[in-house]
Amino acid sequence: MSASLRIDALTKTFEGASTPAVDAISFDVAPGECLAVLGPSGSGKSTVLRSIAGLDVPDSGRILVDGADVAGVAPERRGMAMVFQRPLLFPHLSVLDNVAFAATVAGQPRREARADAEQFLALVQLEGFGARPVTALSGGQEQRVALARALAARPRVLLLDEPFSALDPELRLDMHDLLARIRAQLNPTVVMVTHDRDEAATVADKVALLQGGHLLQHDAVERLYTRPRSLAVARLMGGRV
Ligand code: ADP
Ligand code: MG
Repeated sequence: MSASLRIDALTKTFEGASTPAVDAISFDVAPGECLAVLGPSGSGKSTVLRSIAGLDVPDSGRILVDGADVAGVAPERRGMAMVFQRPLLFPHLSVLDNVAFAATVAGQPRREARADAEQFLALVQLEGFGARPVTALSGGQEQRVALARALAARPRVLLLDEPFSALDPELRLDMHDLLARIRAQLNPTVVMVTHDRDEAATVADKVALLQGGHLLQHDAVERLYTRPRSLAVARLMGGRV
């Protein structure tokens, strides 16, 4: 269920901006790997993720999924699913119908889609929550539903944009465990945006560290601490410099 991802010289300048939001960024993600895109606010993390998803159109550079360029491929046909900081659930639908929505729209028989949705709700530990209105959920539960909905699309690449940063610290730890369980069971390739270096170190195999639209270092998590390539990297990783 996982794909390789290659980002090659990705560049994007928003209209009216004097400098690129993302400047010639390149990195690879192996099938089943979890990469954290880490950096301060405004460093270009979301723009990288949205470009991968097809929600932003880069000015230049390529995005390859299993070696195939996805330029011009609509977001819903890229084999990807995205979870945002705010869950964006349909308030008028039940928990189960939120999870089953994409599959039903894609033409899967409703009964089947709902049976699948039950499985994904169980995976995110919301068994028995299907009939509830989403408006009755806590923030952590909403984000679990958003994850179940993303997984129900059977993505080969799971894109997460600060998915846990609105949650309190204890809930965030539960979500890290959940992400580990999802990876163990479904093995999607994961790209997760975060501005929290501890979170990156906990959940990711590798980190792409961004600042001001530039990729400072792409490396195994521990190497960013032990072998920072520049003073800027050492500073961002909280080293004594
Ligand atoms: P991050 O996710 O790391 O906080 P973003 O990718 O959202 O950073 O933003 C990178 C830069 O691009 C910022 O300077 C931001 O203001 C700018 N930017 C992001 N989205 C837009 C947009 N839709 N229009 C104009 N500027 C944008
Ligand atoms: Mg962002």
